[in-house]
Amino acid sequence: MGHLKPFCSLAAALSERGCDVSFITVHPTVSAAESCYVSDFFAAFPRIRRLDFDLVAFDPSGIASTDPFFLRVEAIGRSAHLLPALLAASSPPFSALVIDIFLASTFIPIAAGIGLPSYIQFISSAAMLSLLAYFPTCSVGVSDFDIPGLWRVPKASIPRALHNPSHPFTTQFVENGRILTKASGILVNTFEALEPESLAALNRGKVVPGLPPVIAIGPLQAASLGEGSPLPWLHGQPARSVVYVCFGNRTAMSKEQIRELGIGLEKSGCRFLWVVKSKIVDREDGEVELEGLLGEGYLGRVKDRGLVMKGWVDQEEILRHRAIGGFLSHCGSNSVFEAALHGVPVLGWPGGGDQRVNAEVVARSGLGIWVKEWSWEGEEEVVMGEEIGERVRQLMEDEDLQASAARLREEAVKAVAEDGSSGKGLAEFIRML
Ligand code: UDP
Repeated sequence: MGHLKPFCSLAAALSERGCDVSFITVHPTVSAAESCYVSDFFAAFPRIRRLDFDLVAFDPSGIASTDPFFLRVEAIGRSAHLLPALLAASSPPFSALVIDIFLASTFIPIAAGIGLPSYIQFISSAAMLSLLAYFPTCSVGVSDFDIPGLWRVPKASIPRALHNPSHPFTTQFVENGRILTKASGILVNTFEALEPESLAALNRGKVVPGLPPVIAIGPLQAASLGEGSPLPWLHGQPARSVVYVCFGNRTAMSKEQIRELGIGLEKSGCRFLWVVKSKIVDREDGEVELEGLLGEGYLGRVKDRGLVMKGWVDQEEILRHRAIGGFLSHCGSNSVFEAALHGVPVLGWPGGGDQRVNAEVVARSGLGIWVKEWSWEGEEEVVMGEEIGERVRQLMEDEDLQASAARLREEAVKAVAEDGSSGKGLAEFIRML
């Protein structure tokens, strides 16, 4: 979802500005949320042409990863040779392909073979893009990275898989980092005021030479799919009193950690809206009972000030609600951009991948704070409820943080206006097309 949603937002934004857009959807899908979102999207944007891309059969047994999303990326890459036939069957002819970074090294050469320029929509932060571009130039293995023009990214913030040079994710990361120079442009869903240093360093050739234009176009509004109104429960809560807790749609926590988080939220004394997730793929999460996860009596104890939910919620609708005053987040890039767009201060608890780099963006921009000591992927240590509760209270009581998040919101709104930096970025991209 973290990749699908920004692609839908971009497609909608281009279509609304008069571009003729075709959207390639892959079959079969992995998650229930993905299937629903795709069908709602096409129903809401009938002018966007749907191109169904059926993947060739793929045997994952030879791949050293069991992550269902990673395996899907592999499967899509192995079907890349089917792209020319798919595009040839569609008219009018295409002027460009916009591709996700995970597919860059497999699809850019194929598109070039049929004379089609490729643009990358990079869905994470510009800081993460800098790491991606810089990583293949380092031959000494993983250590702290002094990324030119940026800051020192400590070893502990580098995605775990990259610590292992023979991990298939590392191979992909290096190949995708190398092929950046072959793209005609890179669109990033960030904005000037959130990441001024990274955007300047990337575009001035400081990070690596030879990159195409890196264009900030965010934070893009999610494509409006006409889903329900914000949760009625939120309407009854005082302004900025509720902390929203959600770790994206693929970060599953251990049962023990979920219980401690529950204790922490209870101890914080704050009102909370918590979306619980215990399985990587949502289709499996449906079978898990909340009461069993949280411990007997928990839901009853917190019912006056806490709402606990399972499954998909409309996060943007929640973040936009006046009752929300803080966001305990894993710092997935979309969550960070959405928090900025709605001026909600973030308490970052990164869980893996690019999230510690994004958490640093959160801290440096004034959008929030993050706790470097809290465990993340590959670490077993459980963070105790007492500590979580304290940090949540700190987040909700920090008036300076509320003010700086509000300032970023103003900047974000300015950026996406027609004459703002991101609005102009999108117009520039359309001009290039
Ligand atoms: N999201 C949502 N409802 C959920 C979980 C996630 O709307 O219950 C959305 C969220 O608004 C964001 C995306 O899914 O746009 C998650 O992307 P992010 O980069 O934050 O994290 P990921 O899930 O990729 O780790």
